[in-house]
Amino acid sequence: MPTAQLIKHRLIEKKLKCETGLHIGGSKDDIEIGVLDSPIIRDPVTKLPYIPGSSVKGKLRSLLEQRHCASNINDMGDPCECGLKECTVCLLFGQHGNKRRNLGPSRLIARDAFMTRKSREELADKMEPGMLFAEVKHEVSINRKTGTASAAGPRPMERVPAGAEFHLRMTIRIFEGDDENKLVSFIEEGLEMLKADYLGGSGTRGYGKVDITDIGPDDL
Ligand SMILES: [Zn+2]
Repeated sequence: MPTAQLIKHRLIEKKLKCETGLHIGGSKDDIEIGVLDSPIIRDPVTKLPYIPGSSVKGKLRSLLEQRHCASNINDMGDPCECGLKECTVCLLFGQHGNKRRNLGPSRLIARDAFMTRKSREELADKMEPGMLFAEVKHEVSINRKTGTASAAGPRPMERVPAGAEFHLRMTIRIFEGDDENKLVSFIEEGLEMLKADYLGGSGTRGYGKVDITDIGPDDL
């Protein structure tokens, strides 16, 4: 297949608001040992929590695959790799390991999402000093034999607090022959599913419920 011409970059910008605490895991190397089992990911320079583009992209892909490519998902749970032109998942997110087909570059670029200025200002007033825009929630596990709280004690989980807002930015690369409206509405569909599902860890225990709305100049 000859290389198609890149027509334009279509930008999608949204505001993502945490309705419950959000946990996207970071590296333990960055914090003092023993302070936290489960730190969140932070910008190494500003120390502010952020949402990696890879987290958004991975979650959108898995949700959209579960709806549109269920028959292509193998027992290992690997991503769809059909590589067919009709497969909007493979077109947007990449054809994974499939070397036999060539859809060209994956169309979607998901940027890291940083906290909005408005949210940084609001949270700076509310948060405890030294917490750096996060809260710690202690999770108790139940001993299955005794039915009581585990002797190991509660596990501290770091979370971005409910109310925090992030600037979500994605770009779709539109190549000659691509159906731009179809690609954009597919992403919009994924964002609707994300609102109904969760982002980050411990979602089945209440974490990571998000709302996604249009973003205005006042937010930035
Ligand atoms: Zn596919």
